[in-house]
Amino acid sequence: MLGAIEAGGTKFVCAVGDESGNIVELIQIPTTEPEQTMGEVIQFFKRFDLDAIGIGSFGPIDVNPESPTYGYITSTPKMAWRNFPFVQAIKESFAVPVGFNTDVNAAALGEATLGAAKGLDSCLYITVGTGIGAGAIVQGKLLQGLSHPEMGHTFVRRHPIDSYAGKCPYHRDCLEGLAAGPAIEERWGKKAKDLVDQEQVWDMEGYYIAQALMQYILILSPKKIILGGGVMNQKQVFPYIFHHLKEMINDYVSLPELFSYIVSPGLENKAGIIGSLLLAHQALQEK
Ligand code: ADP
Ligand code: ZN
Repeated sequence: MLGAIEAGGTKFVCAVGDESGNIVELIQIPTTEPEQTMGEVIQFFKRFDLDAIGIGSFGPIDVNPESPTYGYITSTPKMAWRNFPFVQAIKESFAVPVGFNTDVNAAALGEATLGAAKGLDSCLYITVGTGIGAGAIVQGKLLQGLSHPEMGHTFVRRHPIDSYAGKCPYHRDCLEGLAAGPAIEERWGKKAKDLVDQEQVWDMEGYYIAQALMQYILILSPKKIILGGGVMNQKQVFPYIFHHLKEMINDYVSLPELFSYIVSPGLENKAGIIGSLLLAHQALQEK
């Protein structure tokens, strides 16, 4: 039996299941203070006999096994969670292998193993929600270097009519600062889900996402691109993404038909938690 935690800024999803993506039980816990949230997480898992636990966490996190702060959440704007030793907190209560990666890397692993990129040794998973983040499988492995990638904070050219300053506390008008849910809301004065029929909104959103995808395609050449997160429930943005991407790529690289290359998650909103079960399975195998 495997345990999984998808740790987000607003809620933690905890599940117990197996490496085929079967979930036996799942709960949601609000993200408050580490002591309280982790107390509930541990209480939930104590009811099961677990062989390993996988964590897909919001970040930035320290994923370098050589680092003294491996397993920590690092420079998050959520002060209570800054420098929180996540893996250590789990290991104090459970003497099992623990897998630890970003929420989006977990989702990429889930999609590459059981979802829209099943059978492929390469894919990119991007979430457009409260923030923008991306995880990647490259040559069959989760992409990791000095640390994990932070593709949501790359810079994009401004849309000619966009005068919005941007919302990223670190870079202002990076991709996340211009195109994540809170940026849409602040720019247009309404939540993204209340702007459904505003073509301009989705054309601009598509323009920014397409630029980011263009760069990811040129650098990583992923075999499949999966777009998840709350904002991507607005399916009308996809044709705008395709339109702008086609124009920008300008036939320089040959890509599959865009509607089959850039898709929604095959595991729907379970990509992250199922991916975290797979992180647990990997940790168990590496033991
Ligand atoms: P999180 O990123 O916090 O894990 P979400 O992926 O749901 O959670 O992202 C939340 C953001 O996405 C908010 O800015 C919200 O306005 C936006 N959002 C959530 N659901 C929708 C929807 N159905 N349509 C458009 N925007 C949405
Ligand atoms: Zn940024």
